[in-house]
Amino acid sequence: MKYESTREGRPFLSAAQAILAGLAPDGGLLTPESIPRLSEGDLEALIPLTYQERAEFILARYLTGFSREDLTRCIGSAYNETTFSDSRVAPLHRLDRSLSVLELWHGPTCAFKDMALQILPHLLTTSAAMEQDLRTYVILVATSGDTGKAALEGFRDVDRTRILVFYPDAGVSQVQKLQMVTQEGSNVGVLAVRGNFDDTQSGVKEIFSDQQVEQLLAEAGMRFSSANSINWGRLAPQIVYYFSAYCDMVRQGDIASGDPVNFVVPTGNFGNILAGYFAREMGLPVNRLVCAANANNVLTDFIRTGVYDRNRPFSRTISPSMDILISSNLERLIYLLSGRDAARVAGWMGELAETGRYQVTEDVLDKVHSLFWSDFSDDEETVRRIRDTWNTYGYLTDTHTAVAMDICEKYRNETGDNTPTVVVSTASPFKFTASVAEAVLPDKDAGSELELLEELSRYSSLPIPAGLSRLDARPVLHRQVISREDMSPEVLKFLGLTEN
Ligand SMILES: *Cc1c(COP(=O)(O)O)cnc(C)c1O
Repeated sequence: MKYESTREGRPFLSAAQAILAGLAPDGGLLTPESIPRLSEGDLEALIPLTYQERAEFILARYLTGFSREDLTRCIGSAYNETTFSDSRVAPLHRLDRSLSVLELWHGPTCAFKDMALQILPHLLTTSAAMEQDLRTYVILVATSGDTGKAALEGFRDVDRTRILVFYPDAGVSQVQKLQMVTQEGSNVGVLAVRGNFDDTQSGVKEIFSDQQVEQLLAEAGMRFSSANSINWGRLAPQIVYYFSAYCDMVRQGDIASGDPVNFVVPTGNFGNILAGYFAREMGLPVNRLVCAANANNVLTDFIRTGVYDRNRPFSRTISPSMDILISSNLERLIYLLSGRDAARVAGWMGELAETGRYQVTEDVLDKVHSLFWSDFSDDEETVRRIRDTWNTYGYLTDTHTAVAMDICEKYRNETGDNTPTVVVSTASPFKFTASVAEAVLPDKDAGSELELLEELSRYSSLPIPAGLSRLDARPVLHRQVISREDMSPEVLKFLGLTEN
């Protein structure tokens, strides 16, 4: 299996090279040259397997060149009893006969980013070894909260990697900050930057494109890399849990093997739901992929009209991981739906960069309509949905999952489609406690976020996940607050590359 750029369409990289590169040189996204197809027999064979075995079966189709031992080791290092609090890794929680929730938040940071970021570091270092690249990979992350912590947990103590995370001093929640400043690991660094997220992010971008810094790293046998969601090494592992959920539906007797199911996915950057599309193209019986958005409804408009237009106000919502106006992974979808027409995709992406808008052609839109459906919910609907789900099913959801639950109902009401459905749950209810507490606690005291965690746990009789419990009792290991100008010197200091 070779990988090609969505803006050129000529397969030229191996899987290992695609993972190491992250992005194609022309700015396009690296995409497999074909989508492997599983037979009905293959699907049957997956049903009795563990999550790890299912992962090996799926990933082997894409990561050709990786030996079986390598794959088993990467998967075993990512998904095990130490890293995931549930031995099923991505368990399916049944609400009723036709509705289940796929819980993707049993990893160390209690959100779905762990599904990819627990394995990416191992895929990256294995790829480097396959390419006889002995350099140390230096991961820089600017985070508004969740990705940084998930990347830290993924890369901590992984040989031949260093990771440095910058977060805006005033831009993350108390829990997110505590999660990061207490981060353990011999190869990690965490720095608060005075300013907002945009300052932090532009600072990191500058460092990545600073040739002097790059030179210093090269002389020391190091190389920058990023852990962002367009890397194929993050997308491929996400395909696995769609198959896993389906197999579990069959196993719990809700469907027969071969029956169609719908997936409803809380969406931001379009990575998660795109993995669902790959699963479908591989032969998983998926009827419809429902794209759930919040007030930043750029994807809902796109899926309905074929016009992608980011020229609109940005809203801060209570589902912040979906507050995105540029959904990078959508480029892979339009590439595939246009029949791998790289020239057309390059044109649309050029328009997006120039005007913030593009419109796909009728043939692509028809395909979008046959596969996807989308709507959005605002904060008020989201809070109400958390309360309703708790009252109806005794099941507690976080805000992102609640958006998907709400859209699930809208979809069923509008289309009358009662196909058995899986709502994809992307964060633990303890991760975004304030809104969940507002929705369900009868009278919440205006306490701190940490007190609210305790209160919510007592009220719901659910344990606080290990990754979030007793955060204030852990030693603070990263106290430094720096200014934006100091980011670059701090990187060199962290890597031991300064003269003094
Ligand atoms: C990242 C994230 C999302 C959005 O996923 P995409 O792959 O970017 O569409 C949704 N919910 C949570 C909790 C997330 O962390």
